[in-house]
Amino acid sequence: MTIIHNLGFPRIGKKRELKSMLEAYWKKNETEEALLETGRNLRAEHYAYQNDIDLLPAGDFSFYDQVLDMSFLLGNIPSRIKKAGGDLLDQYFRLARGRGVNDTGNATFFAGEMTKWFDTNYHYIVPEFTKDTEFSLNAQNLLDRIKEARQHNGNVKPVIIGPLTYLFLGKSKDDTNKLDLLEKLVPVYKALLKEMASRNIEWVQIDEPALVTELNASWREAYQSTYHALADSGVKLLLTTYFGGLDADNLELATCLPVDGIHYDAVRGKENLSDFLAKTPSNKVISLGVIDGRNVWKTDLNALLDWLEPIYNNNKDRLWLAPSCSLLHTPYDLSFEEKIDPEIKSWLAFAVQKLDELKTIKFALQYGRETVKKALDANKAACDLRRSSKKVHNEAVKKRTEAVLQQEFSRQNPYHVRIEKQRAVLNLPDFPTTTIGSFPQTSDIRTARRDFKKGLITEAEYNETMQDSIRYCVERQEEIGIDVFVHGEAERNDMVEYFGERLDGYVFSGYGWVQSYGSRCVKPPIIFGDIARPLPMTVEWSVFAQNLTKKPMKAMLTGPVTILNWSFVRDDQPRRETCYQLAFALQDEVKDLEKAGLKIIQIDEPALREGLPLHQSEWDEYLNWAVKSFRISTCQAADETQIHTHMCYSEFNDIIQEIADLDADVITIETSRSDMELLDAFDDFAYPNDIGPGVYDIHSPNIPEIKSMKNLMDKACEKIPAERLWINPDCGLKTRKWDEVIPSLKNMVTVASLLREARNNKAA
Ligand code: GLN
Ligand code: ZN
Repeated sequence: MTIIHNLGFPRIGKKRELKSMLEAYWKKNETEEALLETGRNLRAEHYAYQNDIDLLPAGDFSFYDQVLDMSFLLGNIPSRIKKAGGDLLDQYFRLARGRGVNDTGNATFFAGEMTKWFDTNYHYIVPEFTKDTEFSLNAQNLLDRIKEARQHNGNVKPVIIGPLTYLFLGKSKDDTNKLDLLEKLVPVYKALLKEMASRNIEWVQIDEPALVTELNASWREAYQSTYHALADSGVKLLLTTYFGGLDADNLELATCLPVDGIHYDAVRGKENLSDFLAKTPSNKVISLGVIDGRNVWKTDLNALLDWLEPIYNNNKDRLWLAPSCSLLHTPYDLSFEEKIDPEIKSWLAFAVQKLDELKTIKFALQYGRETVKKALDANKAACDLRRSSKKVHNEAVKKRTEAVLQQEFSRQNPYHVRIEKQRAVLNLPDFPTTTIGSFPQTSDIRTARRDFKKGLITEAEYNETMQDSIRYCVERQEEIGIDVFVHGEAERNDMVEYFGERLDGYVFSGYGWVQSYGSRCVKPPIIFGDIARPLPMTVEWSVFAQNLTKKPMKAMLTGPVTILNWSFVRDDQPRRETCYQLAFALQDEVKDLEKAGLKIIQIDEPALREGLPLHQSEWDEYLNWAVKSFRISTCQAADETQIHTHMCYSEFNDIIQEIADLDADVITIETSRSDMELLDAFDDFAYPNDIGPGVYDIHSPNIPEIKSMKNLMDKACEKIPAERLWINPDCGLKTRKWDEVIPSLKNMVTVASLLREARNNKAA
C-alpha cells in the first residue's frame, strides 16, 4: 500500500488567526492562556484538513518559527536572552523580537538575526553558536504536540530539523567551527529520538534540506558520522530533503546513510530522480515529493501518473508520496476564493487541494486510474484549458521581451558623471538622511482600505484618507528634519500586490496568505499570463506628495526581480522571461515618474538574493538575468534622475559585485542586526556608488540610541568615503508605531548632524 504523508502544514490560520492573537498577546491585550488555546484550535483544524493522510506531521506548528523552536528544543538559548529571566515563552519572544511580553518598558535585547529559509520568502531566526555553546534537551513541547496529534490520528510522524541542517542554518559568533559542536549536539538528538521511541513513535521526519546545497568534504563526513551515531535510537528516520534534487556527491552520501527512508523532491529534482531511485538501497523507503509545495498550480495528474506508475510498479511496498516540501509555503484553501475568475481558479491548487491531489494519485496507483476517472478528467480539462487560454498570451508583450537577447541596457553616462549632475539638482547635505519608503500603517489606513474594498466608502473618500496620510507623513518628516522624503506607501497593502493589481497577467487571492516571518504574512499575487502595464501605477501619489514639500520626494517602485520572487509565478515559461516582462512595465513607469517631475526614484529589490538558486553553479545564470532586468527598468532614466535601490533580509557579501552591477546611484541596505557585517565585503571590493547602510533595526520595537547608530556609522566611515554615505533605517517602517518611529528617526537625524559637525571640524 502506498503511504501518503505531509511534511508540514501552514500554521498562521486560514484567516490569519495566529497573527491576530500573537499581536494582541504582544500588546498584552490577550493572555498567555488565550494564545496557547489559539494554537490548540489551529492545530485541531489542521489535523482535520489532513484527515485522510496516512502519516500526520506533528511539531510542524510554531508560534513564531520552527528553527527558533528547534533552538529551544535543543536548549540553545543565547545567554543575553536567558540572563534576563522570565519564563520560556518570554525568552522565546525576546529572542525572536528583542522583547519578551513581560519585559519592562525600556529593557532592550539584541534580537536573533533573521534570514531567509533557503530560497523561500520565509525567514527564520538564526541559531547562534560559540565555542561555549551547550545543548540540553527540552522536549516537553514537542512531546505534548505528539500526544495531541495522536488524539486525531493514530499514525503520527514528528518533524524535526536534522542536526547538520540545524548547524548549517546557524551562525558562529566567534571563530568556532560549527561542526566541532556536533560532539555536544548529537547526544541531545539521541536523547530526543530515545524519548520518541519510548512513546512508540515509529517514524521521525528529520529534515536535512542542507543536502540540496553544495557541501564540502567535512560536512559530508559529518553527515556520515552523525547519522551513524543516530542509527540505533529505536525510531525509524525519514531523512527529508527538499527545495531541489541531490547532486552526485550528496546523492551518494544520502543514499548510503543508515536511515530507514529518504524523502526526495521529485518536482525540482526530476532530472536526477532515476539516479536517486537506482542508488537507494532496496530496504529503504523512498518518499517522493510529487506535488509542488512551492507554487499554486494544479498538478497535471495524468502526466504525473504517466511517469509515476512504472516507479510504483517497481517499488510497491516501499513507495511513499508527499508534497515536495512543507506546505508552509502555499496558501490554505482555494475554496474560500470567491472572486478569482473561475477559469483561472480552475488552474489553481492551494494546500488543501494539493493534499486532495495526493489522495487522487494514491487511488489511481493503488486501484487504477478508472477508479478516480472523474477527478482525473476534470484535472485534464483544466490543464488543457490553461495551455491554450487567450488570457495567458499577449503577442505585443512577447515581441518586446524578445529583443532582450541582442541588447545591453545601461544609463546614458557612468555613475561619476551622473552623481555630479544629481548633486547639483538635489543640493543635499553630507550624510543625507532618508527612509526606505513606508511609514506606519495605522488603523485609519487599514480601515479605509477595507471599507473601500467592501464598497462601504467611495473612491474619493478613500483617496482622501490616503492623502491625509501622505500629508501627515510629510509633516512628520519636516519636523524630524529628514533630507529626502517618502510619501509613506499608505496606499499599498503590500509592495508586490499593489503593482500586481495594476498589471495585466496577474490574479489575486482573497486569503492566499503565506507566512513571511513571525506574525507577518504576505499574500503573493499570482502571475498567470504575459505582463503588461495599461496605465501609470504610482505617479499620482508621488506627485501629490512632492507638491506638499520643497524637499525632494523619492518615488517608490518595487523592482522586477522582487515582484517576480514574491509572486507565485507561471510554470509554463522560464522565470527569466516573466522577469523581463515585468522589467519593461517598470521602465514605462520610471519614464512617467520622471516626466511628472520626480527627481529621485527608488526601485526596491529586497528579494534579489533570495532568487539565487540553492546550487552555486547556477548563480551566474540567475544573476545575469536578474541584474539585466533591473537595468531594463532604469536604463532610460536621465542622468539627473537619481535611482535608488534597497535591499534587506539577507547577506549580500557574496553577491556584492552583482549588486554594484545594478548601477543604482544609491543603495540603502540592511545591516544593523548583523552589526555592519556588510562592511566586511568592502575589504576586497570597493563599492562604487552611494550607499546607506541601515542603522535602525526596524524589526524590533526598540528605539535605537544615538550612540549605537553613531557607532555603526563610524564603522561605515572607515570603509566608505563619507561623501558617498547616506543614513537610513534597515527597511520600511510600516510595521512600526509612530511613537517608536518619531523618536528613532529624530535620533537618526541627530547622528547625521554629529557626523556633519565632525566632518566640518576635520576639514577646518
Ligand atoms: N519600500 C518598501 C517599504 O519601505 C521596502 C520594503 C522592503 O524592503 N521589504 O516598505
Ligand atoms: Zn527592506
